[in-house]
Amino acid sequence: MKITALAGGVGGAKLAHGLAQILPPEDLTVIVNTGDDFEHLGLYICPDLDTVCYTLAGLANPETGWGRANETWNTISNVETLGGPSWFRLGDQDIATHLERTRRLKEGQSLSQITKDFCKAWGIQHTILPMSDAPVRTMVDTDEGELAFQEYFVHRRCEPKVKGFRFDGVKEAEPAIGVKEALKSADAIVICPSNPWVSVDPILQVVKEIKKPVVAVSPIIGGKTVKGPAVKMYSELGIDPSALAVANHYRTILTGFVLDNQDLNIQTEIDNLAIETLVTNTLMNHLADRARLAHDVLHFIGSL
Ligand code: GDP
Repeated sequence: MKITALAGGVGGAKLAHGLAQILPPEDLTVIVNTGDDFEHLGLYICPDLDTVCYTLAGLANPETGWGRANETWNTISNVETLGGPSWFRLGDQDIATHLERTRRLKEGQSLSQITKDFCKAWGIQHTILPMSDAPVRTMVDTDEGELAFQEYFVHRRCEPKVKGFRFDGVKEAEPAIGVKEALKSADAIVICPSNPWVSVDPILQVVKEIKKPVVAVSPIIGGKTVKGPAVKMYSELGIDPSALAVANHYRTILTGFVLDNQDLNIQTEIDNLAIETLVTNTLMNHLADRARLAHDVLHFIGSL
């Protein structure tokens, strides 16, 4: 079965890693959000792309889910000593990724070519694609005005109240080379348990239409996120945060929806949206959970 997965960072990377443990390299493409990308300290940083790559390469920090394992922090500590901005934590090994990517982008190479070469260097066999080679920037409209995504997410720790989102550049942004082909050749599209507002919506807006069966895994379990601001965002936008809200979010494109055992009570409401459901354990606390959930998702897709 050929699968194309759409992913943000931490939650997306975990399921993508599970899928990569089951599917052979030619049967899995992961399309990653680049709306979170930004320039900082003169470096071009792609937080979600790097999280997915480090995770599939087995290089990710198991505690944080982002950044590299066995990381040191000498560079950013010295930036801090000099009075520079240190709110975005960049480890020494991670900085090498950003330095080399920035150098190659300045030479005029595309983000997708650079990502392809980095994946090869890291021993990743499955295909990982940025959603676009053109810049798309997620902007968060808040009660304190519009903020660039990392300003809102990391610097302001998601404290300002959210009023909406805008993806700057999305209209002009073409999908990166390989994205359209991956969507066309897939038997099904899996929306990983990523933040619907800021990780998945930018990808959906870039790719514009999907003509294949789509199955999404809820990032909200029992009305809570495992990590991150998705629940806070739904509440501040006046939507009751739940797996049902996520199913509604994607309802126009969904064939199937995977929700957690804890949300069994809302399965019927989702069935009533004419969406097939699978109720299972969707928590991926341990490495083995990733392949287990991926197996459940693939089995579910096979049954649709
Ligand atoms: P970010 O870009 O790093 O914030 O990462 P994502 O958007 O990919 O992931 C954030 C979402 O992943 C949050 O809404 C979490 O609730 C969800 N998430 C993280 N871990 C898990 C997990 O083990 N299971 C499920 N179902 N969702 C998860």
